[in-house]
Amino acid sequence: MSTKKTALITGGAKGIGAAICRTLAENGFNLAINYNSSYSEACSLKKELSTLTNVEIFKCDVSCSAQVKEMFSEINNHFGGVDILVNNAGIAQQALFTDITDSMWEKMLSTNLSGAFYCCREALPYMINQKSGKIINIASMWGEVGASVEVHYSAAKAGLIGLTKALAKEVGLSGITVNAVSPGVIQTDMLSSFSEEDKACLKEETPLNRLGTVQDIAKAVGFLASDSADFITGQVVSVNGGFVI
Ligand code: NAP
Repeated sequence: MSTKKTALITGGAKGIGAAICRTLAENGFNLAINYNSSYSEACSLKKELSTLTNVEIFKCDVSCSAQVKEMFSEINNHFGGVDILVNNAGIAQQALFTDITDSMWEKMLSTNLSGAFYCCREALPYMINQKSGKIINIASMWGEVGASVEVHYSAAKAGLIGLTKALAKEVGLSGITVNAVSPGVIQTDMLSSFSEEDKACLKEETPLNRLGTVQDIAKAVGFLASDSADFITGQVVSVNGGFVI
């Protein structure tokens, strides 16, 4: 079994998650890449990064606690445990508040918030035993300030920020840090429902006058996963070009 530390990135096959995988592979971590529907993207990323480090892919819907339990058992068998957990898997949706159905609400909360809860719960026994570990939750600036027509998304991400702060207090004595990276508007498939005009407006509202890239987020995650961030916990690192100050 490898002596390198292992990072699990949920939703790691594409978008921000794939950029995080590339950065953490370059930084010398073993990679456990979780995917749900993006099997072919996960396979090609595994092939690409296998030249740099040990990589395995794990299928799991993070909104299902039984599947998360099974995924951790497979990862623990393969790598021995998870040292760095990046809760990145997420969905977004725009809907008027009064149009949000029970199932839309439940899917949003179970994917973006319960998924992180299930993964933290499975990751922690190993981390507590090791007296070290780093959990990094990918939140959103809308979880910090709220977004109109994205109330369920904002509520889930605000919950994730609350989880981050509270868990940081609870597991600090075990040498485990828990932080959030809170992206602004980042160019990924998540913006596919936005028109070019919408994106131009968002860019104009951003003091640094551009939309974010997946690498902007991955670099912040790479820092929080490194020894350089050993004394940082319970924090929300906002990577948004100044959109929210
Ligand atoms: P994306 O390209 O749509 O990727 C979403 C990722 O989440 C995919 O890898 C997907 O996996 C995974 N995922 C969704 N539901 C899942 C489930 N039930 N189980 C496991 N994985 C699941 O979007 P992205 O922009 O990279 O988003 C990544 C994270 O950044 C999300 O948490 C998002 O809320 C956050 N964020 C994004 C932005 C932005 O502007 N893009 C801004 C703020 C925050 P599969 O494809 O394999 O199903």
